[in-house]
Amino acid sequence: MFLRPCCDDADVLHGHHHYLDICFRCRKLLAGNRDIFMYRGDMPFCSEECRQEQIEIDEAREQRSKQTVGAEQQRQRQQKQSPARIPVWAW
Ligand SMILES: [Zn+2]
Repeated sequence: MFLRPCCDDADVLHGHHHYLDICFRCRKLLAGNRDIFMYRGDMPFCSEECRQEQIEIDEAREQRSKQTVGAEQQRQRQQKQSPARIPVWAW
């Protein structure tokens, strides 16, 4: 019998522990690091450089998603302008 339900819980705890103990960017151990740089409340970094890199990546990603949303909205607006969609009460 190799079923051990407690294993899953142990893995979750283990992962959580590591998540908070390593730099989010370069995976360096933060143990013994006196200066831990936090970002968005739950991302720890070993240095300002690592945090800055993550901020830039996040900003680039947000920029991209904004562009995608903008194109999508434009497409929907064009559909709404189609004459067949003008409601009767508008005449
Ligand atoms: Zn780092």
